[in-house]
Amino acid sequence: MEVRYYPDPVLRERTRPVEQFDDALADLAREMVETMNQAGGLGLAGPQVGLLLSIVIVSADTQPGSEIVLVNPEIYDTDGWEVSEEGCLSFPGTYVKIGRFGRIRARYRDPKGEPRELEAEGLLARVIQHERDHLDGRLLVDRMSPIQRMTQRRRLRELKDRYEHRTSETRTGFEAAR
Ligand code: ZN
Repeated sequence: MEVRYYPDPVLRERTRPVEQFDDALADLAREMVETMNQAGGLGLAGPQVGLLLSIVIVSADTQPGSEIVLVNPEIYDTDGWEVSEEGCLSFPGTYVKIGRFGRIRARYRDPKGEPRELEAEGLLARVIQHERDHLDGRLLVDRMSPIQRMTQRRRLRELKDRYEHRTSETRTGFEAAR
């Protein structure tokens, strides 16, 4: 699986709920965990690997083994407010202070389809909220204030240039292959 970078349009798509809890889903979840760990991230959502399904991987630390797979996650209870620095695998090198609920409860299904709930605070609560945003096509850049967007303007421009460069290379490669 390859991580998709801003401004790849797939990151703007809305996902659909998972309905089939089969081996294929378990395989996808495993691959997503691997991809996230290889990239050194704390969270990864379906659209970030081009998958328009409601599935996210989250972890409270970068130690392999502490990942949680949340299928069809919904945040249903929130409390407190914390502003802290946040990054995203789809925005390499970009870190901004973002406000998020300090504590949340989430309902989800595990890859076998079992309904589950979890309560999280601090970093894990932040990661879950960030990944939940991805499932609606909402990105870090949408959570930035106008001033933050100004400050990050050059970085965002670089990401756009890099994306355009990469997609034109892919196109050329494809044409050459024919
Ligand atoms: Zn992200």
